[in-house]
Formats: sequence, structure tokens, C-alpha cells
Amino acid sequence: MTSSFSNLSLAEPLARAVAEMGYETMTPIQEQAIPVVLSGQDVMGAAQTGTGKTAAFSLPLLQRMLKHENSSTSPARHPVRALVLLPTRELADQVAQQVKLYAKYTNLRCAVVFGGMDMKPQTLELKKGVEVLVATPGRLLDHIEAKNAVLNQVEYVVLDEADRMLDIGFLPDLQRILSYLPKQRITLLFSATFSPEIKRLAGSYLQDPVTIEVARPNETASTVEQRFYSVSDDDKRRALKQIVRQRGITQAFVFVNSKLGCARLARSLEREGLKTTALHGDKSQDERLKALEAFKKGEVDLLVCTDVAARGLDIKDVPAVFNFDIPFNAEDYVHRIGRTGRAGASGLAVSFASGGNDARLVADIEKLIKKPIELEAMEYEEDRPRGRINDGRRHWREEGEAGDARDVLDKLDAPREPRPEVRSSSPARGPVGGRPHRSASRDPFFDKPYEAGEPDTTPAWEAAAKAAPARGISSNIKPKRKVAALFKSAEPS
Ligand code: AMP
Repeated sequence: MTSSFSNLSLAEPLARAVAEMGYETMTPIQEQAIPVVLSGQDVMGAAQTGTGKTAAFSLPLLQRMLKHENSSTSPARHPVRALVLLPTRELADQVAQQVKLYAKYTNLRCAVVFGGMDMKPQTLELKKGVEVLVATPGRLLDHIEAKNAVLNQVEYVVLDEADRMLDIGFLPDLQRILSYLPKQRITLLFSATFSPEIKRLAGSYLQDPVTIEVARPNETASTVEQRFYSVSDDDKRRALKQIVRQRGITQAFVFVNSKLGCARLARSLEREGLKTTALHGDKSQDERLKALEAFKKGEVDLLVCTDVAARGLDIKDVPAVFNFDIPFNAEDYVHRIGRTGRAGASGLAVSFASGGNDARLVADIEKLIKKPIELEAMEYEEDRPRGRINDGRRHWREEGEAGDARDVLDKLDAPREPRPEVRSSSPARGPVGGRPHRSASRDPFFDKPYEAGEPDTTPAWEAAAKAAPARGISSNIKPKRKVAALFKSAEPS
């Protein structure tokens, strides 16, 4: 049963904004969380980005803050009352944009601060006064230290994507930030998983939280065709290009495990004429936002990215996801392939296993998704009769709709296997125009978000964390990936 926003008695400015967004019914997390937040209780919510979580916390917080709303120009009349912390710049930006939309008919102000950008414009905005401050932990600490952000009137704190913040190593930063806040406050914590670390964090900072779980077990959507190929490192690019061509894939996410690998792969695919862009932590903020925009608009076909950079981004319904590298963490596999096959659309998830540690990583995935995985041998086209595709059922040239992405690939393969050219008017676009299918406003995926189980082995990084405890960590909270925290880098390079 889903209910309408009209049942909530939201204040008129908020109800108007929601109506303008075109939301008709609440998503499950909204249905459960909004009344609880309105009633002033702490929340521990199992939900990830894409479930409608932002509205689930921001609408009731805005509603509660309306009593402070004023049109004064004095900064003192606009102290930070709600602090929303997120692990990455993109997520912070995405959430702030949404909050601004929900608050657009109120006098409540929202600002976002994250690293990789000049501090000055952020400082100016903070100095003018904002009621809702969305931030990544590192940059917020910089502003606190510079006395740009005063947090002694904060009434609400949202720890969003908390599991990812701990993974990245933000625990010490979070602890410092939370130490600056008034003890009397409402704290909301959202996480894709309720790992022991998350439970400990909640135990330290939440008071009698209401637990809300709208998640399902570790399932991958049945609409996603999952294929695992055994491919040597040297052959991965060739395998990727072949599958893109054979399947007529218009757009895909290509996941790699490191920033360096990400940049390298994107560069080499781009050099080979594929419309490719990269998304990883070493790119400037501007570059990252541009890369995302270009992919969303369908101007690029392949988005090569790392898990951290792609986590939670509001891009849905990509026709295919490639795991160019098998993720180190099985849960990331589920996150990655959750990008495709949404809203009932069929999707393809292709993973390349290349030996070494990959067998163990694939076994971990098998255990998590509780489905047997068959590792197939990759058959390359030059090993087969000319023009036959992998499954031998269709002839790619007979389809008569080969677009330029395939065309480019044909040209790449030309020295090895010359083929007649197939041309179309838009260069390097996918066969059906390249725009991903967009979902309707009510995405059925909302009903079954992903929830990962608790891994039954201690991750290596956690063992390392025990050996070298990070600064300022309370004894009852186990640090995670503190090395990353110290170096302010979320991704392996
Ligand atoms: P979030 O999980 O907050 O990042 O939201 C994911 C996407 O769902 C955003 O594009 C929201 O605009 C959209 N969304 C949020 N709530 C609803 C709703 N009740 N109905 C339809 N779309 C929604």
C-alpha cells in the first residue's frame, strides 16, 4: 500500500513543491520515515540513494523548521539548523539540489559545501546564513576551523550513506563534527547496510532510534542478465568492445577498481574513438559534473567509473553495466548492477574475471546474491567464422541497424578483420540513438531497494585499521579505512 503526500498535511509551500516535482505517491521509505521524523524521533533507516530517501528526511525536517522561517536579511536570523553529511561531492551536490527544490517556496535557505572547489564562494554563502547545510565531512571541518560555519544551533543531523562514510574513513571526521553539535538534537542515520560498525555508530550518536527498513535481501533484479566471462587483463578491452558491438549497447557504466585504472581505460577507449568519459576522485569537481551531465544527456556512450565516484548517483536505467574489474567488495557488485534492469526494463551486467584473486571475489558474489555463477569462456570474433556473433544465433550485420558505436568498433577491428562499413549520420552514437530509457516517476525499484548482509569475514582493511588506530576514535567505535581518511582519498589509486 502506498499513500499519497496529501495524507501528510505538509505545509502549503512544501506540498506545492512536491506537487511540482510530479510525485504522486510516497515511496516506502517516505511512507515510513516522514511521520517518524515529523514526530521528532531519531531514525536509523536502511535505504540507499534512489529510494526517495532525500525527500524522506528533508520534507519533514523542512516542515519542522518552518517555525523558524523568516525573510530577514540578517545572517544571525538564518543559523544552521539542519546539517546533512554525505560521503562524496556528487552526492552532496545532488542532495542539496533536491533540498533546494523542496524548499523553494519557503524562506529556508540551503547551501552545500564540498572539497575540490574554492572555499571562497562557499564561505560567502555560509556567512549570509543558511538553515540547511549539506556537506562532505572534510570540507565542513575546514569551514568549521575557519569559523565560517557555526553549528551551535543545529537541531537536526542527517548522516546519509553512513556505511559509505565509514568505508571511506570519515569516522574520525564525523566524530569531530558531531562533538561540535548541541547534544539536544534529532539525528537521522541512513545506510544501505546495518553492519556492526553502523550499529555501533548509531549506538553512540542516536537516541532510541526508530529502525526503518524498506530493504530487501541481497537480491539482484531478475530483469538483469548477468554474465561472467573469463578474460585475461590484456583482452578485457577487446572483450568489452566486442560485447558492446554484438549487443548493440547504446550506453553503459564500466566499473573499474582504481582511479588510475579508470583514467587509463577511459583514455584508451576514447583514443580508440569511443565516446567515453571517466568519473573518479582525481578529477576536478567541474570535470566530474560535466562528465555526469554529458552521460545523462546521452552525449557519451561509456562512463568509466570507480565505485566511490558512482555510488548513489541519480542515473538510472543504463542498458548495461560492465565490471571491467570484479569489485573487491561483493556488495559493490549488487550496487553496480543495480544501475541496469530497473523499472522492469531488461538490463545486462557483464563481468570480466581475469584470474588471480578474481575467483575468490566471484565466489563472494555468488554467496551474496545466492545464485550460481557460471564463468564462461570469452569467444573472440576472429576465432569464429566472420561476422558471427558470440551466441551464434544472430548475425550482427544482418540486423541492418548497426549504428556508429559499432561502426567505430568495426573500424578498430578492421586491421584484424576487415568488414564492409555501415554508416549513420550521428558519429559514435548507439544504434538506437543512445538515450537511456527514463523511468516513470514511480519506479517499482523503490519497493525493493538493496540491502547487503553482514560479511562473515573481517575485511583486510579492517584488520589494518586495528593495527593502526586513527586519531580521536572513541574506544567503542571501530575505525574503518583510516588510512584513506588521513590521506583524504576514498579510492584506491
Ligand atoms: P533519492 O533516493 O532521494 O536520491 O531519490 C531518487 C529519485 O527519486 C530522485 O530523482 C527523486 O526526485 C525521485 N523521487 C523521490 N521521491 C519520489 C516519489 N515519491 N515519487 C517519484 N519520484 C520520487
